[in-house]
Amino acid sequence: MSVACNFCGRVVEGDEPPLTWTAAVERGRMRHYCEACSREHLRSMEAKLDSEWW
Ligand SMILES: [Zn+2]
Repeated sequence: MSVACNFCGRVVEGDEPPLTWTAAVERGRMRHYCEACSREHLRSMEAKLDSEWW
């Protein structure tokens, strides 16, 4: 199995994403974000600039 970043599409091998990745449950579905996207995501969340994502 592999895990794909829900944001940029980056894929890693394995059943679970690396610890540096962020996992979130949205509408009952698991979403994973890679290290880089997690940072972008967190910044956006903190700034509340991209409410369409949430
Ligand atoms: Zn990504």
